[in-house]
Amino acid sequence: MTTPRILISEADIQRRVRELAAEISNDYAGEPVTLVGVLKGAFIFLADLSRHLTMPRSIEFMAVSSYGMGTTSSGAVRVLMDLRRSIEGRHVLVVEDIVDTGLTLHYLLELLSTRDPASLKTCALVRKKERHEVDVKVDYLGFDIPNVWVVGYGLDHAEDLRALPYIGVVDPDDETAGE
Ligand code: 5GP
Repeated sequence: MTTPRILISEADIQRRVRELAAEISNDYAGEPVTLVGVLKGAFIFLADLSRHLTMPRSIEFMAVSSYGMGTTSSGAVRVLMDLRRSIEGRHVLVVEDIVDTGLTLHYLLELLSTRDPASLKTCALVRKKERHEVDVKVDYLGFDIPNVWVVGYGLDHAEDLRALPYIGVVDPDDETAGE
């Protein structure tokens, strides 16, 4: 049995989410925003973040998946579920759990920018900066982390451990992690 090692505690996450929400609320100054959560990993972050925001906000989801190992470097991303509503003329804030190579977020920004939003910004809970392959701008960032496999607060290990209240580290090859 392997329990994830705590990297970012629940208290630290909650404090940072409140700080980010205050900064975002201040920047949008009461303008309505469409929050686009990227499934599945961002669902908990988006839930907490959205409850601390003060401007009018609607919530949409997209589900994407990277193509297999061999092709991820091409940046090819498959859209599994698209937005249900038009974002034309809307202020859009994409909410991601993690930015690793940056390819997923880069692809999403390219795609969403073709739909003529009034503005398009990004918010990510964690970023592995040393892994970046493309320059993608994260306007609101929770934490920079080292190149480790993280779980919890929405992030999974083979679909497990998403509901942990903290962000922990596991060995990605450990099949017993969390048992
Ligand atoms: P990208 O490399 O395109 O920035 O990130 C692709 C996806 O890989 C992320 O959205 C996330 O689903 C997954 N990912 C990358 N690093 C980690 C990690 O440390 N833990 C988990 N659970 N998922 C990760």
